[in-house]
Amino acid sequence: MANQLAIATSTDPFTRGLDYLYRTRSLALEPDIVDLVYDPDKRIPICTWIGNHIDAVNAQLNACLQACHNCFHPWEQCAIQIFAAPLANSFRIDGLCNLQTDPITILIDVGRVIPEDWQLLVIHEYAHAHAGSPGHHQKFAKSLAHLCLGFAIVPPEFQPGMEVSLRSYPNCRPTQDPLAFWRGLGNG
Ligand SMILES: [Zn+2]
Repeated sequence: MANQLAIATSTDPFTRGLDYLYRTRSLALEPDIVDLVYDPDKRIPICTWIGNHIDAVNAQLNACLQACHNCFHPWEQCAIQIFAAPLANSFRIDGLCNLQTDPITILIDVGRVIPEDWQLLVIHEYAHAHAGSPGHHQKFAKSLAHLCLGFAIVPPEFQPGMEVSLRSYPNCRPTQDPLAFWRGLGNG
């Protein structure tokens, strides 16, 4: 899938990175979910790192997205775009699915979850896209269970009150410092 967000508008990595962050803001449910653009100290090293490395990261996320598509027949797949972005601490989320954009947008904070679990995070957000719902109810559970079977992950159990546990299913292992990856200090 073409990565529309990484169009080289400038040869300067910082400018490209900042431009990228502003574009991800426009795809977020609320722009302030991507708030780093307002941090004068952190945004210089992080935008520079993004300018140099985001294409490779997004290529990995697109491979995760494709693996999810492969769990469904072509006519069951919806149009989805996926991008990595550092998400604000205050929202307490690792990823999001914005059903209001066309194509549907998934944003993944690759700094919050260890690289081995990025696929799990993408599976969760993909289930929202496939269910067409931001909630964690029956329809979401059904899409998620289908994906889990495709990835040989134990599917969630259907039980009353399962919405709460589905919010963080499958479980993803967190990183110590969500911004370390974005500063180029990640090991992934
Ligand atoms: Zn969710």
